[in-house]
Amino acid sequence: MKNKYNELKKILNKSKRIVLTTHLIPDGDAIGSELAVYRYLKDKGKDVTIINHSVTPDNLIFLDKKNIIRYFREDIENCTKIIKKADLILILDTNEYSRVKSMEKAVRESAAIKVCIDHHLGKNQFDLLISDTNYPATSQILYEWICNDNPKYITPFIAKCLYAGIMTDTGSFRYPRTNEKTLEICADLIRKGADPVKIYDDIYCNIAKGKVKLLARFIESFSFHFDDTVIIGVVTQKDFEEFHSDVQDVEGFSSFIMNIKNIKVGMVLVELRDSIKISFRSKGNIHINEFAKIFNGGGHKNAAGGTSFDKSIDTVKRKLLEKYRQFQSL
Ligand code: 5GP
Ligand code: MN
Repeated sequence: MKNKYNELKKILNKSKRIVLTTHLIPDGDAIGSELAVYRYLKDKGKDVTIINHSVTPDNLIFLDKKNIIRYFREDIENCTKIIKKADLILILDTNEYSRVKSMEKAVRESAAIKVCIDHHLGKNQFDLLISDTNYPATSQILYEWICNDNPKYITPFIAKCLYAGIMTDTGSFRYPRTNEKTLEICADLIRKGADPVKIYDDIYCNIAKGKVKLLARFIESFSFHFDDTVIIGVVTQKDFEEFHSDVQDVEGFSSFIMNIKNIKVGMVLVELRDSIKISFRSKGNIHINEFAKIFNGGGHKNAAGGTSFDKSIDTVKRKLLEKYRQFQSL
């Protein structure tokens, strides 16, 4: 990784205008990564713009009190211009162009150098890819990258953003890739100004009423399969409308189902306007990212996602079970 950090340093020395972006429906690691890199590069005198496809989820807005993040679809013309004029585009927490959604064309067509910093499996489609799937969060890579330059650049704000990224992507330090290093880094981030109690509280202890009702409906939708080792849960557009909630409120639902005794695989179907998003979770040695590929997706061994363009939930459920039967017997 060190060589890669140095390579990026050289690219940065030649870049003035920098655009940062991340995947759709950004999580804490995505938003934390963007804002940390934004502050770091601004402090180094760069002209930096964050542009995202999706709006920031409510529980992460506290990281962006200054409204730094811009939304592509709110000002397509100007955002396209900024992307076009950039010397460098940094894509964070995803290694797939399709996951920047509405921005894909503008990003691909820009002559800017494209660098991706990420921790998912995938192939290199960039001028430089800094990625290692052993890291539990992109934010952990960013900590190393910034410290490799100089630890003094980790301001209290950057510490807060990186801590939020690591805490959320490790499921509050309980997912498999959490290790000594993760906790040592978080200890240092706390030393440098991150408040672990407040960050947890801001992110997790402000569940809106609509989300609780959505969760209740989600629980009602559960169906159990394969001797109660596989569970499917569904959230529909109708549910969103009824509870005045949206796709952001589904955050955490897929990890919730994995708390159920004996469950080895969880599948969450979320009806979007044009497709059905599927979240996959698994335990142990079940490589669910391989399964996700059948549904146009991918991800990590135990957490992956995909999309089905078939609009009927029942059809997708049937297909999931049929394909899982085959997958299981491989
Ligand atoms: P989630 O279920 O939380 O949306 O996603 C779980 C993991 O799978 C995340 O790490 C995410 O990056 C990955 N993932 C989700 N959707 C997709 C997808 O459509 N394609 C790929 N390659 N990865 C995905
Ligand atoms: Mn991540």
